[in-house]
Amino acid sequence: MFWNEKIECMSRDELMSLQEERLKKTVNYCYERVPFYKKKFDEMGLEPGDIKHLEDLAKVPFTVKTDLRDEYPFGLQAADNKDIVRFHASSGTTGKPIVSLQTRADLEMWSDCVARCLTMYGITAEDRVQVSYGYSLFTGGLGLHDGAQKVGCNVLPISSGNTQKQIMLMMDLGMTAIGCTPSYALYLSEVLMDKGYTPEQIPLKHGVFGAEPWTDEMRDTLEKRLGIQAHDIYGLTEICGPGVGGDCEYHNGIHIWEDNFIIEVINPKTGEVLPPGSTGEIVFTTITKTGMPILRYRTRDLSRIMIDKCSCGRTMARMDKIVGRSDDMMIIRGVNVFPSQVESVLINLNITAPFFHMVVDRQGILDTVEIQVEVKETTDDIKSLEGIRDKVAAEIKSVVGIAAKITLVEPKSIPRSQGKNKLVTDKRTQVNF
Ligand code: ADP
Ligand code: ZN
Repeated sequence: MFWNEKIECMSRDELMSLQEERLKKTVNYCYERVPFYKKKFDEMGLEPGDIKHLEDLAKVPFTVKTDLRDEYPFGLQAADNKDIVRFHASSGTTGKPIVSLQTRADLEMWSDCVARCLTMYGITAEDRVQVSYGYSLFTGGLGLHDGAQKVGCNVLPISSGNTQKQIMLMMDLGMTAIGCTPSYALYLSEVLMDKGYTPEQIPLKHGVFGAEPWTDEMRDTLEKRLGIQAHDIYGLTEICGPGVGGDCEYHNGIHIWEDNFIIEVINPKTGEVLPPGSTGEIVFTTITKTGMPILRYRTRDLSRIMIDKCSCGRTMARMDKIVGRSDDMMIIRGVNVFPSQVESVLINLNITAPFFHMVVDRQGILDTVEIQVEVKETTDDIKSLEGIRDKVAAEIKSVVGIAAKITLVEPKSIPRSQGKNKLVTDKRTQVNF
């Protein structure tokens, strides 16, 4: 099903010329209205007129997270104050938050993108959508809300938290779709199982999961436990919020709504643009936003893009599942490690619960990793516990490439997340994410 088949399936040639025209407009608009961009262009001796074709985008300087912090709060505002209708802010882990400013037209574009995603997932005006993303400065709640309302769904704006009430209303109102982080969905599934509900008794048919990386293994787990189809929704505050793209029924990447956002992949070390298929850092340029358009924003998300036509008929590029943010990547004794790799191992092994927490530390010059993993059931059978521990350690060593200390902990002892999950405590830097 398509929300806007004409756009979603337009030929790549048509799409490129639309992007080119919109890019030129955006570059001019940014140069004229945002001193931050003018200064950057002037310093490089670059003029808006130098950007004539899509290939010229590579000449445009990057915008990075620290630029947004330095320009906090209004330094990147392009529209007149009277035209701004909404502020959002991303939490960030350190320092000042990043503020995003939206005009009415930006909100329309954003909700249109979310509506495209929901329709692609098979969600229609008949569906009842429980929005369990936080309604706050965070873009998840209001972002999904506006999109679901545009589709005409029955929207339940419950926000995050209060799991007992979530379940009561889900059951009583017969909610057919839920939007939340995959880690919260996992927790919810656990509580539902504990209450004795079978997947058939749960009214949900669709899960709209995003805001943090999750694996195909997690998709299977959530689909089985909740009796749903699990869909991926991707986005970030700097660009708009959830709905920059989503996956279709073929689950072979996230279709990016390229009529609004130009996606590039770059080598994070050199800034060089990489061809389709190569993995690198994802960079976005907004080409329809007016409140706070953004040129070549370095997301720190690592992935690759594919531009061949998808079996669903959409021509919009697909971004592979995000392995993790470059800031989530830990370098442990020289090995690059993402928490999502540990998630895959645990779910594939299926001898423990899928809940874990990693603690990274340094003793002398050596990095140490402890992975706390929940067992499925409490037991005093030391032999079986040792067997589980050794198997997990061996699999982590072979798949992830690190020697980790595995500590088995009691069921339900690892704190459950209501929003974005904090999977790691890195004592080397004292950063939690
Ligand atoms: P914050 O920066 O405070 O976490 P955002 O909500 O703006 O707030 O976070 C956006 C980031 O969340 C993305 O850059 C990406 O790293 C992650 N993210 C969002 N959606 C997904 C998804 N579907 N899969 C993987 N990561 C995602
Ligand atoms: Zn597709």
